[in-house]
Amino acid sequence: MQGKLLLFCGPSGSGKTTIVHHLLQTNPKIEFSVSATTRPQRANETDGKDYHFISVDEFKKRIANDEFVEWEEVYTDRFYGTLKSEIDKIWNDHKVAIFDVDVEGGLKIKKIFGQMLLAVFVMPPSVEALHQRLKARNSETKESFKARIAKSEHEITYAFRFDKIIINDDLPKALDEAEKLVEEFLK
Ligand code: ADP
Ligand code: 5GP
Repeated sequence: MQGKLLLFCGPSGSGKTTIVHHLLQTNPKIEFSVSATTRPQRANETDGKDYHFISVDEFKKRIANDEFVEWEEVYTDRFYGTLKSEIDKIWNDHKVAIFDVDVEGGLKIKKIFGQMLLAVFVMPPSVEALHQRLKARNSETKESFKARIAKSEHEITYAFRFDKIIINDDLPKALDEAEKLVEEFLK
């Protein structure tokens, strides 16, 4: 059983999780592909819903068992990966899988699934705005904040490789644009 897929990438703080959550709330055909990660759980996150939070040892075991479509060490010692079992489960439910992954992982997924996938890059209106949003989210230590900002400058240079770019300046406008792109792709 094979179905369609939606991919949202962009630098940390660009707003991709906000957009993905909105799509999940407004379109019952879409189901979130829950990634595995070794990063600590945030206060507002649920294990098994936002991520499968696992140890580095467990993550490495799963790599050895070939359980991932793709995985990345996105930040030092912070592994993230897309599980094959998630996509199988979503397709068996006759749903469309949606991914929120980093740019490198996203490009790997795009290569694997080709035309079955819509790849969207979420662009912040400016680097300044990215800094402010990450600060306002209040989720990072000083070190992880710096790592995310450093990575974002590199990530932005990959935007042109995606099928569509959404500039997330005015949030309601960006949500509307995302809804329309997805509707058109799933028609
Ligand atoms: P990402 O998943 O890309 O790291 P988030 O969706 O977590 O980003 O968004 C980062 C922060 O910015 C969150 O606190 C979110 O509420 C906020 N945010 C998202 N979009 C906008 C926007 N257009 N304007 C202002 N704040 C935004
Ligand atoms: P966060 O820690 O903010 O939830 O995520 C950090 C980065 O890891 C984001 O760019 C997010 O999209 C990415 N990410 C989340 N899950 C995966 C995954 O399964 N694979 C890859 N390659 N990146 C992921």
